Amino acid sequence: MLNWEDSLKNILIVALVVLAGVVLSGEGILAKPDQVDGFNVPEGRIPQEIKDHRYPRTYFPTTEKLGEKEMRIIALGTGMPNQSPSNVAASFLVELGNGDSFLFDMGTGSTDRLAGLEADYSRLDKVFISHLHTDHAGDVAALWVGGWIQGRYNPLHVYGPSGSSPELGTKVHIDHIRAAWAWDVTSRAGSLPHNGGEIVAHEFDFSQTAVVYQENGVRITSFPAIHIRDGSVSYRLDWEGLSFVFGGDSVPNKWFLKEAKGADVVVHEAFFTPEQWMKIAGFPYKQAYWVTTQIHTPPEGFGKLMSMVEPRMAVAYHYWNHRDIEMEIYSGIRKTYGGPLTLADDLTVINLTKEHIEVREVTINHESWPQGTSKEWDTAPRGEPATGLMSDWIRDGEIKGVNPPPKQPLD
Ligand SMILES: [Zn+2]
Ligand SMILES: [Zn+2]
Repeated sequence: MLNWEDSLKNILIVALVVLAGVVLSGEGILAKPDQVDGFNVPEGRIPQEIKDHRYPRTYFPTTEKLGEKEMRIIALGTGMPNQSPSNVAASFLVELGNGDSFLFDMGTGSTDRLAGLEADYSRLDKVFISHLHTDHAGDVAALWVGGWIQGRYNPLHVYGPSGSSPELGTKVHIDHIRAAWAWDVTSRAGSLPHNGGEIVAHEFDFSQTAVVYQENGVRITSFPAIHIRDGSVSYRLDWEGLSFVFGGDSVPNKWFLKEAKGADVVVHEAFFTPEQWMKIAGFPYKQAYWVTTQIHTPPEGFGKLMSMVEPRMAVAYHYWNHRDIEMEIYSGIRKTYGGPLTLADDLTVINLTKEHIEVREVTINHESWPQGTSKEWDTAPRGEPATGLMSDWIRDGEIKGVNPPPKQPLD
């Protein structure tokens, strides 16, 4: 005979089985975000206002409201073109209290980190590329198509520099991405919002210090960088008296010093030392020195530059935060710089206001889902459906009756 405890257990087990059945069958489940203050957030999530700078110790994505005059900067990728599981390649996300979002670089692997943020992809439609190395632009196509499926119903806008000739500039690069992925994009036509499948290049002159974006109180300035060949730039974003500077790859240069001087959060590469690069890449000293000091900026150079820039927060990236390396990076920087410093890791997050800077890590759910597509995405116009893309003999090769029939009417 069952006692009451066993009965209760049985009831609970039955309830769980029923619940699991509902979840697994997908009945009644449509992944849709909630709208909170005009923002799409994952279903059931209610972002909280942060008072008196009392931030939780870690940042759980989409749980905090940004203040009206607050900026949130998230390092998505801080590593290298040769991959390491600890650090994917360069990308920083900047979110503003006015609802705007900007991506600076989209290096290989960075879209994986973005997915962990359970972001509203409809807002992630502007990328500013510092230069066309894969570790700074390798995931543009991944964001273009992945973001489209996950909620972007408008074109992806890619801002980037010209090169020494047209074929080395951002416009031709994007034209080739569009052409290279024609098979992909045309196969999705009709089922996804038409405009979300567009990618638009905004190429500007790499050699000028110039405003390349100005909207909604946000100004983004591009200025030249020194990195192997013509066509590398860095950026400065200004909004509500707050400033964020994103250094693409470069040796320390006069344009950076001028634009970054006294800015709030200043991100610049701090590359490996020549000795580390000899170990990592197996290069002889001469070549290692050339890479780490003539193409890049090693820790001591980063420190010296930041001593001149004097930011409210200096942020170093572009190395692997491996335990066996990072203390040398840190002590290299500290030889020449004693000011506020963050060694950015993937998913380091910085909250910035006029009064306060908070540096934390993002805690992500490694099994997080996309937050789901919105009503706007559902109703955005579709183009002509992709039909007639398959030969009859291929279609006819299906083994009929193997895949299950529909359980619900399809109209
Ligand atoms: Zn790089
Ligand atoms: Zn580079």
